[in-house]
Amino acid sequence: MTSASERPLLFLDVDGPLIPFGSSAGDSEAVAASPTTVDQGNPLLARLDPGTGARLIALGCHLVWATTWMEEANEVVAPRIGLPRLPVLEWPDADAAGAPRGLHWKTRPMVEWAAGRPFVWVDDEISAMDRHWVDAAHPGPSLLHQVDPAKGLQDADFQALAGWLDAVPPR
Ligand SMILES: [Mg+2]
Repeated sequence: MTSASERPLLFLDVDGPLIPFGSSAGDSEAVAASPTTVDQGNPLLARLDPGTGARLIALGCHLVWATTWMEEANEVVAPRIGLPRLPVLEWPDADAAGAPRGLHWKTRPMVEWAAGRPFVWVDDEISAMDRHWVDAAHPGPSLLHQVDPAKGLQDADFQALAGWLDAVPPR
């Protein structure tokens, strides 16, 4: 039995992976809505798949929000997809000096949080710079998994995540 502290981390984005942007022209107005204006009537929330939480939990990771929704992910997203309240990756201090141009704001805080533990990052905005940074700064296994924001998390994504997690050596 693996204890909770030994499970891999999974950093989870909202916009794109959980709320797909879609491709029809009629969706553009909804996509432009700010998460900070979220309420019961926000059309973005209708795009959440209620079954996603169970599938994420089944991966057996320690889930962490990594999204500009911040604490609102716990308030309005988690209940709609069957997730409990999760810890939230904090926006880094403004003095993020030393971070190269093009590095995602999430990348360095994730590596620091993981502190060498295996981690997965599920996002639609992963660049080559992020991959280079993680390769250089993170001594443990990592999977930076890019999701197609037009579709959101699909069966193939869950299969890829589960396959990688199955292959992670136990600590
Ligand atoms: Mg996103």
